[in-house]
Amino acid sequence: MEAWTRLRLITIDLDDTVWPCAPVIREAEAAHYAWLAAQAPRLTAAHDTESLRSHRRELMRQQPEIAHDVTALRRTALQQLLVAHRYPAELADGAMEVFRRARNCVEPYADVIPALHRLRRHCQLVSITNGNAEVQETPLRDRFDRCLTAAEAGAAKPAPALFEQAMAWAEATPAESLHVGDDPFLDVEAARAIGIATVWVNRHARPWPAELEPPLVEVADLHALEAWLDLPVVDE
Ligand SMILES: [Mg+2]
Repeated sequence: MEAWTRLRLITIDLDDTVWPCAPVIREAEAAHYAWLAAQAPRLTAAHDTESLRSHRRELMRQQPEIAHDVTALRRTALQQLLVAHRYPAELADGAMEVFRRARNCVEPYADVIPALHRLRRHCQLVSITNGNAEVQETPLRDRFDRCLTAAEAGAAKPAPALFEQAMAWAEATPAESLHVGDDPFLDVEAARAIGIATVWVNRHARPWPAELEPPLVEVADLHALEAWLDLPVVDE
């Protein structure tokens, strides 16, 4: 790959691209549930974590206008159940705070911080996520030039809003941008659909979905991304 002389912007997905997501969500849901069990036992007597999840899915179908905002979805779903079990809806705020704190206890993969540090010398780095981690509360604080969420953008990937807002902010065209992410549909295909070159981060050697065009490049981690970009060395 020749040097990316026109590269102005790299958009980077968060969950499962820069940190593992499932263990953090599991911990956050456990902490959230334990808090609810203490504060709203009638609710937890009727619902386990799985049935809370089913209830959220149902709400997502009923209120597609908040489906892109996972925090609003969680809060609204919980408020409904609290009221149904004769608790004040405001109790959701405490439960959400417990979830929020645990949700930000992410552990970046070992390659991420050094790779972001070097990539940032060459272009703007913007994190874009459908999730609700708050980057400034994580070990990746100050590692990006901008952090955008689907909740703020008004639409989740694969909609183009997050990519478009990142490009507008960085004053970059699709040809001057590159997107890096783990999800074949929500990252690779979504960015490619609006003309952005894409890098598939495949940390667990998963097969590429047969129904999609192959990605421009597949990397196992962000060091491999740096090697593929072959950017000129910049002194410290
Ligand atoms: Mg992801």
